[in-house]
Amino acid sequence: MTNMENKATYKSPQIDALLTALTGRDRTACVESLTCATCGGDAQKVAFRDPLSWKEFQISGMCQECQDEVFGVSED
Ligand SMILES: [Zn+2]
Repeated sequence: MTNMENKATYKSPQIDALLTALTGRDRTACVESLTCATCGGDAQKVAFRDPLSWKEFQISGMCQECQDEVFGVSED
């Protein structure tokens, strides 16, 4: 399953710099070390619910808990 690779998705250096400025954390480094870029916690502490959540982590660096906080939890 290639999308389970522990690798940040590509973003332009400008966007990465902006995100780093906003969060104080390097998103790419966070994804590679499986650290949440939003709360700074262990991104594997709460298992990712589905491949989409994992993908979102690769994109935004947000752990499952932070994704739930931002996007809400669907009840299905
Ligand atoms: Zn988090």
